[in-house]
Amino acid sequence: MSRFWSPLVHKLTPYVPGEQPKMTDLIKLNTNESPYGPSPRALEAIRAADNDTLRLYPDPEALALRTALGARVGLGPEYVFVGNGSDEVLAHAFQAFFAHGEPLLFPDVTYSFYKVYCGLYSLPFRNVPLTDDMQVNVADYAGPCSGVVVANPNAPTGIALDLAEVRKLLELQPNRVVLIDEAYVDFGAESAVSLIKEYPNLLVVQTFSKSRALAGLRVGFAFGQPELIEGLVRIKDSFNSYPLDRLAQVGATAAVEDEAWLATSVQKVVASRTVLAEGLQKLGFDVLPSKANFVYTRHPNRNAAELATQLRERAIIVRHLRGERTAAWLRITVGTDQQCETLLSALRDILCSNS
Ligand code: PMP
Repeated sequence: MSRFWSPLVHKLTPYVPGEQPKMTDLIKLNTNESPYGPSPRALEAIRAADNDTLRLYPDPEALALRTALGARVGLGPEYVFVGNGSDEVLAHAFQAFFAHGEPLLFPDVTYSFYKVYCGLYSLPFRNVPLTDDMQVNVADYAGPCSGVVVANPNAPTGIALDLAEVRKLLELQPNRVVLIDEAYVDFGAESAVSLIKEYPNLLVVQTFSKSRALAGLRVGFAFGQPELIEGLVRIKDSFNSYPLDRLAQVGATAAVEDEAWLATSVQKVVASRTVLAEGLQKLGFDVLPSKANFVYTRHPNRNAAELATQLRERAIIVRHLRGERTAAWLRITVGTDQQCETLLSALRDILCSNS
């Protein structure tokens, strides 16, 4: 508490980021990073930086990157916005579109930053409960609101909506922005990007942090009709007109152009996800059907927080979230096959030694 703080600061409960431990010999399955490096083309582009790359200011419009991102999905750069990680893109979107007075709707179990941004920007919100089997029921998102945010696939559940359900959501709220957060979409869900031209109220947010293995570069982006993109640009320009530094712009542009690398890397993660889910089920865990690079799992008669602690003692970190609906579950990032095997044998060991 401080007498210098504004009333807002007193009220804020900031997001607690996933732990980034200093030890390097841990198996780190807690923050959904890729276990593989990024496209070598991205590394090459960053290494090619010369004197001028850093001496000069970056392109404030990041036009090369926006053009490359749009071209991939048949859209011009005027349909694309970029920011410092999708967290920043989300922050700008919350300010640009959701301050209408009514509550913003998002699921009760979802990415915890949504609530944090509502606190930061003083936006009322309503948590819409997932069904008992942890699904988003789109019919629950009707009625007056300032907008809707749904992560698809949802995090931490990994469960995805299909495009028909996303359409329903867009049609339930034609006068409000429906933001689909597709941070994990490349791992098997259907992207709503194909609906952009049809729905002026659709904003799709994606990131380079997961499937493209560039979490350290901090690049996120959004697709929407030019009217929505202009709203985001107005907010961005009022903050800081350089959304991305020069290294991020060249690295991300090179990464977008390496489709083959993306496909191979996603395939590896998806194959390991199947092995991991089956291995957990054999050990008696329930596993939700994941379309992401993590699985959400619980053991019918083990305490999840204790399991997380016991794994940590074996140098493996996974994510346990407190909260009524999440306390029984563990979110485990899909690592390499070797890491998944080490995790499964540690769990086998823990379950045996405790029984
Ligand atoms: N959305 C969701 C659903 C996420 O899980 C994350 C990663 N924690 C993000 C957005 C933000 O990712 P980044 O800022 O690295 O793009």
